[in-house]
Amino acid sequence: MTGDRRSAMVIGGASGIGLATARTLAAEGYRVTVADIDEAAARDAAALLGGDVTAIRMDVTDADSVATGFESAHGVHTVVNCAGLSIPGAITELDLAHWQTTIDVCLTGTFLVLKHAGRHIAEGGSIICIASLNGRQPGTGMASYCSAKAGVLMLVEVAALELADRGVRVNAISPGLVDTPLVAGISLVPGLTEEYLDNTPLGRSGRPEEIAEAVAFLASDRASWMTGAAIDLNGGAHLRRYPDV
Ligand code: NAD
Repeated sequence: MTGDRRSAMVIGGASGIGLATARTLAAEGYRVTVADIDEAAARDAAALLGGDVTAIRMDVTDADSVATGFESAHGVHTVVNCAGLSIPGAITELDLAHWQTTIDVCLTGTFLVLKHAGRHIAEGGSIICIASLNGRQPGTGMASYCSAKAGVLMLVEVAALELADRGVRVNAISPGLVDTPLVAGISLVPGLTEEYLDNTPLGRSGRPEEIAEAVAFLASDRASWMTGAAIDLNGGAHLRRYPDV
């Protein structure tokens, strides 16, 4: 086992699930680097969390930016990719540019993170990618996001195969609806959220901290035999059909 076992890089760590993850890992004693395209927000997050938390700018759609970030974090033990966005739109209406942006951030971004994390992570390290319930359940008006997240689930499986000989585990978490700025900032099809929550067995949306707990588990030796897996974390929403409104 090499590298610093208590070091973590949380990409997209300035907000929502990433911020909660950075907070949880810091509380567990990890030295955390918050990496985000929004450098000012990343710095604010690091200042908020205090302790051994630092911030860097990283744009997951930019190969040089991702490469540089990981070169400076050589030997990191835990990498969490929470960077993401969604630009909704029906297929017949969706601009190519909007399709491409979601694919670039969610899918190509995951590829670039896996590529450079795979090169620089410590032997025995853990990579966790935040996918989505929409990676396996289609949602009206969410073609680019669903397609990207389906790709993320497959990328995680391929990376798990390719990195296993170095003892690096690669897993995904597929959240359902979680209360974060991402959800607040997009206008989904009217009625979708209400119907989705009515259809969720535990009857509510998730909190970012509930995703962070699963990340902390996957990062730890408690998950030492787990790779190529995806955890459904959604109040049971995967047990029912995604609403079609
Ligand atoms: P958020 O908007 O609160 O946080 C996303 C973070 O990613 C932001 O800090 C943003 O600056 C950063 N980011 C965006 N583009 C980036 C880029 N190119 N390079 C680096 N950083 C970038 O969103 P969130 O809800 O916390 O989402 C985190 C992840 O969880 C995303 O992958 C999202 O798709 C996924 N997810 C969210 C939900 C939900 O309901 N909130 C559900 C399922 C999956």
